Amino acid sequence: MSDNDPFLNPHYREDTDAREASLRPQFLKDFQGQKDLKENLNVFITAAREREESLDHIFLSGPPGLGKTTLAGIMANEMGSEFKVTSAPALDKPKDLAGILTTITEGSVFFIDEIHRLKPAIEEMLYIAMEDYEIDWIIGQGPSARTIRIPIPRFTLIGATTKAGSVASPLYSRFGIAVRMDFYTNEDIESIINRSAGILDVSIEQPAVKLLAGSSRGTPRVANRLLRRMRDFAQVLGNGIIDAATVKDGLKRLKIDNFGLEKHDREILRTIIIQYQGGPVGAETLAISVGEAIESLEDFYEPYLIQRGFITRTPRGRMATELAYKHLNIDRGSIENQSVLF
Ligand code: ADP
Repeated sequence: MSDNDPFLNPHYREDTDAREASLRPQFLKDFQGQKDLKENLNVFITAAREREESLDHIFLSGPPGLGKTTLAGIMANEMGSEFKVTSAPALDKPKDLAGILTTITEGSVFFIDEIHRLKPAIEEMLYIAMEDYEIDWIIGQGPSARTIRIPIPRFTLIGATTKAGSVASPLYSRFGIAVRMDFYTNEDIESIINRSAGILDVSIEQPAVKLLAGSSRGTPRVANRLLRRMRDFAQVLGNGIIDAATVKDGLKRLKIDNFGLEKHDREILRTIIIQYQGGPVGAETLAISVGEAIESLEDFYEPYLIQRGFITRTPRGRMATELAYKHLNIDRGSIENQSVLF
């Protein structure tokens, strides 16, 4: 993702942590959409509460901005437990993890974001902690060094990742519950926009909600961010009420189309079509061609482009679909002729 245009990328948390806090649902009843997932989690929470046990460890995967951190916080609130948050890159040394695990309270929910990025030594420590609620600690140095086992409080680990495939199987297998989160339906995004508009105390007309939902990439974080920008446009350029005209004009100003594609998405499609004659092209080559980090391409752009049917992933690389040609208004024949000519 280039730094100058991070608008739609849910990886980019801008000032979001503070602003998102007010919009972040605190309990399961406020978490919109994902009905089946909510029902299951509710069963697990109720069962654990009735048995007066901590929840099983939970593995959450899926693209950024879909509510993994939010769900982890909700699980802690629903269990009435302490909530501790960190991310794998922040755990540099085993003592960083030990420091947390030895000071948490019984039944705590411990959330590790980007869990696929754990260092091996920390992962080892976590295995034992997850299974036996103990950690191995080395005291002394050299030949006199010895390992002691320290008991830690029972806790629930919630590990989140955008790259489920990069998580080592010994780690994955220690989670009792694994949840794969997917993009939200437009209707669910509409309820998120309506809920957020209520909290932000902004007036938005229903046709505007529909339009905005269609351009939110099925992603709550994007929906909330677009809503805040539309509020700005309505306040400065209009009468303060977000109507369909505000959204149409606002999306145009932000260069976001009716599929929720932004400039970079269209550049990716155009590059596959024009530079690589529709593909297949490998992810790394494509990332270099469009000047994106491979992580941004794979974690953010691709999942949505694939889900909406603009590209397909084949063993030989990414390919543009008929829909991509149509959306960009490019005639397949003219490109094929060009490749013959040049
Ligand atoms: P992730 O951890 O998957 O990147 P977050 O949990 O940080 O995503 O969610 C991003 C924002 O989207 C949250 O601040 C919250 O306001 C909103 N959000 C996510 N899921 C929902 C939901 N199901 N209902 C309402 N708001 C949601």
